[in-house]
Amino acid sequence: MKQLIVITGASSGIGAAMAQAFSAKGHPLLLLARRVEPMEALQLENTICTSVDVTDATAMKAAIAAAEEKFGPVGGLINNAGVMLLGAADVQDPAEWSQMLNVNVMGVLNGIHAVLAGMKARKTGTIINISSVAGRKTFPNHAAYCATKFAVHALTENIREEVAMDDVRMITIAPGAVETPLLSHTTNDEIKSGYEDWKEFMGGIIEPKSIADAAIFAFEQPQNVCVREIVLATTRQQ
Ligand code: NDP
Repeated sequence: MKQLIVITGASSGIGAAMAQAFSAKGHPLLLLARRVEPMEALQLENTICTSVDVTDATAMKAAIAAAEEKFGPVGGLINNAGVMLLGAADVQDPAEWSQMLNVNVMGVLNGIHAVLAGMKARKTGTIINISSVAGRKTFPNHAAYCATKFAVHALTENIREEVAMDDVRMITIAPGAVETPLLSHTTNDEIKSGYEDWKEFMGGIIEPKSIADAAIFAFEQPQNVCVREIVLATTRQQ
């Protein structure tokens, strides 16, 4: 059987597309998100779906250990769970900043902490962290979100240097705007409608499957080849 792949945030959007893509390649999966029903609705073979909040390091470790009991050691972790709550820095509720920092940064670190020691010991493994074009450049009303995604780039590159000699691959995938419910959680309606206008101006945005295809491309390279970073967006996105 192929290697176990763990995907966070698999109940929606990019994570669900990743789950479908890796399952189609024959991998057993552990899917993690707070909502189990949408993950189960994907009806994927050899797949465990567990309700885990990625900010809960203990729960994440326990879920991964249980999946390893069934499918063997984790070969790949895709830290995809994330939230984007846009707002102007002087008015945004700092609770939204905390949520983004906790999910988008601590959640990624929690995932890495759960699998990295095992991967180092086995001298193999791949961790793909989903950042964003907003982890490479800034946009109005994105201060805290950009801060979390710049952090994802930084921690991925930092850990890549730490574990390179252990043959563990650390990969960043940074999508531009993708058609998912991500924007719907932003509470400011004016910012939301401005974002929708921007999408229209660009003539549409990319589908989650394109991000999943990029992950498959990176994962399927030989273990001694590390695609360090993929940035992909519509041709028209700035
Ligand atoms: P969605 O809103 O469709 O999906 C977000 C996923 O994250 C859901 O499965 C959600 O599951 C999960 N999630 C959120 N909070 C938690 C939590 N505390 N614990 C566990 N899971 C959580 O958005 P996308 O698919 O678009 O986003 C996926 C990733 O891609 C994010 O990191 C996002 O920042 C990034 N991205 C998205 C872009 C876009 O334009 N869509 C562009 C660039 C990057 P549940 O609610 O069930 O817990």
